[in-house]
Amino acid sequence: MKLLSKIVILSFMMILTNYGCSNSTTPETEAKDDFTYFVEQFGDIRILKYRLPGFEDLSLQQKEYVYYLSQAALAGRDILWDQNFRYNLLIRKTLEAIIDSYSGDRNSADYKVFMTYVKKVFFANGIHHHYSSDKFIPGFSKEYLLTLLNGSDQSKLPLEPGLTVDKFALFLTPVLFDDSLFARKVEQREGADMVAGSASNFYEQVTQKEVEELYAGKKDPADPRPVSTGLNSKVTRVKGKIAEELYRSGGLYGAAIDEIIGWLLKAATVAESEMQKKEIEILIDYYKTGDLGKWDDYNVAWAGNTQSMVDYINGFIETYEDPLGMKATWEAIVNYTDVEASKRTAVITANAQWFEDNSPIMPQYRKEKVTGVAAKVINIAMLGGDCYPASPLGINLPNADWIRREVGSKSVTLANISAAYDIASQGNGFLEEFAFNAGEVERVKKYRSVSDALHTDLHECVGHASGKLAEGTDPNALKNYASPLEEARADLFALYYMTDKKMTELGLFPDGQAGEVAYDDYLRNGLITQIVRIKPGKDIEQAHMRCRSMISHWVFEKGKAENVVEVISRDSKTYVKINDYQKLRSLFGELLKEIQRIKSEGDFEAGKKLIEEFGVKIDQQLHAEVLDRYAKLNLAPYTGFVNPVLLPVYDSDGRITDVKVEYTDDYLGQMMNYGKNYSYLPTKN
Ligand code: ZN
Repeated sequence: MKLLSKIVILSFMMILTNYGCSNSTTPETEAKDDFTYFVEQFGDIRILKYRLPGFEDLSLQQKEYVYYLSQAALAGRDILWDQNFRYNLLIRKTLEAIIDSYSGDRNSADYKVFMTYVKKVFFANGIHHHYSSDKFIPGFSKEYLLTLLNGSDQSKLPLEPGLTVDKFALFLTPVLFDDSLFARKVEQREGADMVAGSASNFYEQVTQKEVEELYAGKKDPADPRPVSTGLNSKVTRVKGKIAEELYRSGGLYGAAIDEIIGWLLKAATVAESEMQKKEIEILIDYYKTGDLGKWDDYNVAWAGNTQSMVDYINGFIETYEDPLGMKATWEAIVNYTDVEASKRTAVITANAQWFEDNSPIMPQYRKEKVTGVAAKVINIAMLGGDCYPASPLGINLPNADWIRREVGSKSVTLANISAAYDIASQGNGFLEEFAFNAGEVERVKKYRSVSDALHTDLHECVGHASGKLAEGTDPNALKNYASPLEEARADLFALYYMTDKKMTELGLFPDGQAGEVAYDDYLRNGLITQIVRIKPGKDIEQAHMRCRSMISHWVFEKGKAENVVEVISRDSKTYVKINDYQKLRSLFGELLKEIQRIKSEGDFEAGKKLIEEFGVKIDQQLHAEVLDRYAKLNLAPYTGFVNPVLLPVYDSDGRITDVKVEYTDDYLGQMMNYGKNYSYLPTKN
């Protein structure tokens, strides 16, 4: 369901965590050894690697299970590339051929610029920035592209029969270089034709109006358990008529889906329980048919399985990249439980009903009975599809509202990924530059790890899961504002409780200051630092960023009369200072109440007004100042990961006797390896 996109990306965790670890229980051992997390930095990207703590303690069967699932997680990579843009696979294969075979000078300045472009494209799974969605414009010339093509092995280039390099370059050049062509992957700006204006590949030769009409006829508003209509297909035109092409075996992306199925079949033979085996079989059935009813059946089974040590995500799940918020990109992860750290999330879920009952929202929109919120802390063993190389830090699934209501959801915090972020960022100077004073820096150092972890847990475990819709409200009523509003609802739920004395009573916080640190971090980020990710003159587009900007600016404005939050200028630098934490808390509560009402009643106009008024625009002068301060620190605002290499050890009968973990520092090598060994789709789909 479109509005419940669950991947939380807390930018203060991604770019501000300088000290300690976001997870209070795992990092102790990690910080002590000499594991190097940093791999490389290019453009606005930092590449890290992550560790698999405790992997060697899994049983052989569990390791084998992880291995098969990890192969299923890599097998669908091409799907995402094609979904992001219809020429991405063609472009990637061209870049791979050049890297493989170019015989010209590889030490030239031009070639280095070309390689930076390549790394950015690999990172984004296509030629549009993974976060801002703008097309990358190459820093090398059109002529140099021709030099590269001519200097490479022609047999490796993805040329159609009879196509010369010159003609190919003629086609490719505007696709890569023309900044008005396919300029944005996702276009959601007000007034635009979101379908025609977006380069993502969910629609072809159809207008937004045609798509909306197509799906209006397919939805039954009276159905209490509606399938996620439109989730797994492309809408296009066949012989003049609008047609839906399903992602399934034998259909669109069938070749890659068959590979995924092959690995899932192996995984099913070593699943941890009958229940999990069944669940995988339903998933296979869904991949074979594309039947969304089976997808729901699968999610019901998956959400109900909360006991397994090893778990995974594999499917068409999140809808961020579809401008209309219906169609999902392919993603996969494989993970295993961090048993010790999961005790913290167990405390939260055990008190889920208390959180719901004491929430400041209108009583009629509270859940009488919070069902099945299962939460745990996990370690990632493999990232795939839309989770690679940029990984989420927390995930709450499934997305379908009715399954969340009737069966519940699973919520996870990614411990080893968070630890890598935090340890790799220690002492990078960011906090010192933007915190109001040394006292704040000290306090943040002391409490951030615990406050970050709890924010993620509250956001995922109870925030998204709370509240309910009024009877008859269309779950899609908030349209393109649904994602930022939903993230705001979960963030506010977390923020509201962070300074509640219940947190210390439950043993989640050492004392009340940890919650105040969360407020410092949130507002400093929402009012000032998150805009380091935005280019001068641009608006805020991304859902999580709109959410944080909206919340921060709203409470700042509403608290102005009482000076609750102050924006202070000192030596031409801007800082944020909170004067009254309790009043701030009640403002968070007030806004939560309003956003819950907006969601429950489907009040599109009110939701739109909040986001447009407080979440989109940036003060140009402040922006210039912040970018300047940030540039001096020489940091990258986005982070991604290379995967570990899982190596099965076989005996003479071909049985797996162990699975070894190797870590690599070769980002480009991993990308080339995946291109060679996990590519199953033609360049045109
Ligand atoms: Zn979220």
